[in-house]
Amino acid sequence: MTVAQRIVELKNNIPPNVTLVAVSKTKPVELILEAYQSKHKIFGENKVQELTAKYEALPKDIEWHLIGHLQSNKVKFIAPFVSLIHSVDSLKLLSEINKQALKSNRVINCLLQIYIAKEETKFGLSETEAIELLINVEFLTMHNINIVGLMGMASNTNDTEVVKKEFKSLKLFFEKLKTELKPSINLNLQHISMGMSSDYKLAIEQGSTMIRVGSSLFGER
Ligand SMILES: *Cc1c(COP(=O)(O)O)cnc(C)c1O
Repeated sequence: MTVAQRIVELKNNIPPNVTLVAVSKTKPVELILEAYQSKHKIFGENKVQELTAKYEALPKDIEWHLIGHLQSNKVKFIAPFVSLIHSVDSLKLLSEINKQALKSNRVINCLLQIYIAKEETKFGLSETEAIELLINVEFLTMHNINIVGLMGMASNTNDTEVVKKEFKSLKLFFEKLKTELKPSINLNLQHISMGMSSDYKLAIEQGSTMIRVGSSLFGER
């Protein structure tokens, strides 16, 4: 099967309310263009430099998502075009995104990355830190960002019970935030970005609305 066929097949097998982010990191623009032939328009990258280069080389109706860790000093490179940043993990970073979005006269959609895995290497906020961020007075003044949901990465393990529990905890936290915090100009919780090639089915069962799938579409990296 071609990459375009794999995308069509995957989309036919997920519920209509689940958005596919095709993760094209490390893959060449030629292959992304092949994937684009499927009419799929949402692609994800984890590095700013690679994202920017691909944005410049590829059709402008692609919606680019940044899924990897973002440093404040690199926000300016993606602020003019990025559609969704999945990996916001501090107020400082959010403040820089807001500032750069204002310069580009845009509102940038963001997800808060929540730490759900056991492993220490994963980035993200604890639930307490996420709440502190969302009720911070500085956050309330940021009008060029829109927090549209949460993102999480499960532990890298074959133990499906562990992965399931982690996804479930993110869904529960999402529901808790939705009941405790009123929607506002910059807070509109709609998405739970969870699930990758190895665990997206489990993630969808646990309430994912956005899956980030790379290797099972584009091949191993
Ligand atoms: C690479 C990556 C993915 C996709 O992983 P696959 O196993 O290739 O599907 C998803 N999310 C993030 C944050 C990634 O860095």
